Amino acid sequence: MSKKSHRQKTSSQKKAPYIRTVTKAMELDWMPHWGISPDLYQKRNAAVLEVACRLSDDVVETLDSKTDSFYWFIPQVGNLAGLFPFPITHDDSEEEAELEAESPFVERYSKVLYLSPNLERTSFAIAVASVAHELAHLVLDHPTAGVSKRDSYWANEKAAWELVDSWGFGPEAKKHANLYKRRERDAKS
Ligand SMILES: [Zn+2]
Repeated sequence: MSKKSHRQKTSSQKKAPYIRTVTKAMELDWMPHWGISPDLYQKRNAAVLEVACRLSDDVVETLDSKTDSFYWFIPQVGNLAGLFPFPITHDDSEEEAELEAESPFVERYSKVLYLSPNLERTSFAIAVASVAHELAHLVLDHPTAGVSKRDSYWANEKAAWELVDSWGFGPEAKKHANLYKRRERDAKS
């Protein structure tokens, strides 16, 4: 299967407007538990806030209901190693229950939303697209990386990007897609 097929050919240029303040966004249940550090120069923190300020109320409500189903992991760039506690999260979705039933590997685990320190070196749009994309997987109740069935992986990727687009992050998603295309090209040359 072509790697390109999981992304739509044209992203919507409709951009989600800002509908809540940073202060209001920081109070949302599903934001990182330790709070978003005010040092907005950290691109990932700023990207999480950007998405939280622009998501519609109904999406925010869905994410509120998933607050205990995942845990943010946004490791600091300068932190080279460490032991981190990941609380056991609770996911009531049918898909997760099904996976737990068929694989002992996922019987007890934490669903962790990881934002790589490498995002600090990408453009802000790429960081925003990455945050929105992972939140889309949450809203769609997709299984976590590593335990998803191979045959559903690309279908889930496509569905997540389509949702990101419908939320009004199409322009950012397009830049993300272009970055991956460039990487593929560079890998070949
Ligand atoms: Zn994905």
